[in-house]
Amino acid sequence: MTRDLSRLTSAPFDVLVIGGGIHGLAVAYDAAQRGYEVALVERGDFGSGSSFNHAKTLHGGLRSLQSGDVFRARFSVRERRAMARIAPHMVTPLAFVMATTRTLLRSKMALRAGFLADAVIGIDRNAGVEPRLRLPAGRVIPRDSYRALFRANASAEATGGGHWTDYHMPESDRLTLAFAQAACVHGAVLANYLEALDPLVREGRVEGIRAVDRLDDTTIEIAARVTVNAAGASCRPWMSAFGAKPDFPLLKAMNLVTTRPAGPVAMGAPTSGGRLLLIMPWHGRMLVGTSHSDTAAEPGDNTVSQGELASFVDEVNSAFPALALRADEVSLVHRGVVPAVPDRRGVLELMGRHRVHDHRVDGIEGAVSVVGVKYTTGRGVAEQVVDLIGRKLGRPAPPCRTGTTRLPGAGFDSVRAETDRARSEVGRLLSPESIEALVATHGTGWRAVADLCRTDAELAEPIAPCMALPRAVVPYAVQHEMACTLADIVVRRTPLGAAGYPGDAVVDVCGALMARACQWDPRRLAREVEAVRDFYKVV
Ligand SMILES: Cc1cc2nc3c(=O)[nH]c(=O)nc-3n(C[C@H](O)[C@H](O)[C@H](O)COP(=O)(O)OP(=O)(O)OC[C@H]3O[C@@H](n4cnc5c(N)ncnc54)[C@H](O)[C@@H]3O)c2cc1C
Repeated sequence: MTRDLSRLTSAPFDVLVIGGGIHGLAVAYDAAQRGYEVALVERGDFGSGSSFNHAKTLHGGLRSLQSGDVFRARFSVRERRAMARIAPHMVTPLAFVMATTRTLLRSKMALRAGFLADAVIGIDRNAGVEPRLRLPAGRVIPRDSYRALFRANASAEATGGGHWTDYHMPESDRLTLAFAQAACVHGAVLANYLEALDPLVREGRVEGIRAVDRLDDTTIEIAARVTVNAAGASCRPWMSAFGAKPDFPLLKAMNLVTTRPAGPVAMGAPTSGGRLLLIMPWHGRMLVGTSHSDTAAEPGDNTVSQGELASFVDEVNSAFPALALRADEVSLVHRGVVPAVPDRRGVLELMGRHRVHDHRVDGIEGAVSVVGVKYTTGRGVAEQVVDLIGRKLGRPAPPCRTGTTRLPGAGFDSVRAETDRARSEVGRLLSPESIEALVATHGTGWRAVADLCRTDAELAEPIAPCMALPRAVVPYAVQHEMACTLADIVVRRTPLGAAGYPGDAVVDVCGALMARACQWDPRRLAREVEAVRDFYKVV
């Protein structure tokens, strides 16, 4: 992956995607794999929007079944399975437990019925999935087992527990990046820090966009036959620019990453307001989510105030009183602005179903908008978008293969076997801990990073005593993964700062390596270090 803007202005593309979150990247990958000429622009870094801030869970159909949406439940099961097939090293089963009670909707009988329906809808949930990742059906567990898992947080009203399994994504940002890499492998031209400004419209047809390079303020025009709006929280202004009247509001959704160690099982409990909160293990810490605002949010509303943090912590403590969580134990607040719909009483809730909108119905040709609602289903939504693009181009696309083709980095049988292979090949160059960390993050990409270590012994050193990844991941990310800022490295290309500020020592080492790779002067480096610190601030 290299950032070369001259390739974007050379010829008209079949498809131009605005937004490099999971939906935009999956559209770019799918369209490129099916043989279209593809470009994608992302105004920040790839996967830095909601696709960074989610709760790291690939959901099956249970939630959709609660609202009786069988189609959505089936779609989720299929897409959860697709992720396990295409990126087996990036997902891991995670058990979730919540109390059953004497109320009708949370009773053992209700949960048994739900699990049965889920098992039927997900009958093929494990087809083509490697044994380690096969998911058991949900079940009801006795009260004693529930109490043993929840201990001090156990509800006195619990009659037992509902126990189900979904996938978790330990390195979710590397997974998002793998979609970008896959798109590039198939010839797509991607650029981060390139912001779409406005559409180029001629005689009722969108013929591309004008975009500004956020790294040097130059403006370019990119021509395309079909432009796809996958701008996440900024989706609505682009829909309006393409002639539609978007009718849905937005909500701010948040998770808390804490410094508390987590147990092996995710625990769910309702808050005093009735919202289900989940405590999940992630990077060894408790991640708690998801909470959302009660009132509509604006697209750029991605700050978190002390007040918002305090009321979220109160909400967590109302669901898990024995936790007694304190705001100073929060190492990072995930936040994203996501599409919403009013329920029957007019109360805003998260939008349940994605939307793919062809702007032909608004009298505009050459534009499609995608409103995504879950990371889990991003690949499947992209498949629908590319089918539509094929029809619009009058060149029907060959069948989609992104649901069965391994993503870059995933081309091996098992993580253990690949780690053993790496040990036998580079065991003298890198420590066992560095090898393990590298395979977990880069998959088969470990070899290219190890090659870099051979050119300079310092690059084989771990980033810090507590961070086993070799220093070479930094120049590697600059050269091959389009990392442009220090935050790209610390927050997304590596897991160093994914769960909270990793400490000055780590930031300084990464900063020095990045300054060398990008020839930054001391003032630029100082600005970059400050930007990393700001990233974790609650205002
Ligand atoms: C707190 C929280 C928890 C969640 N938990 C889960 C979960 O556990 N499981 C799950 O499946 N889903 C979850 N979700 C939902 C999921 O994160 C989103 O549905 C998904 O990431 C949206 O992807 P996207 O590509 O549509 O949007 P984004 O990831 O926001 O990507 C849109 C991109 O467009 C870019 N962009 C905007 N305007 C422009 C422009 N003018 N030019 C260029 N680029 C532009 C933005 O910078 C952004 O990177 C959660 C969401 C939140 C906020």
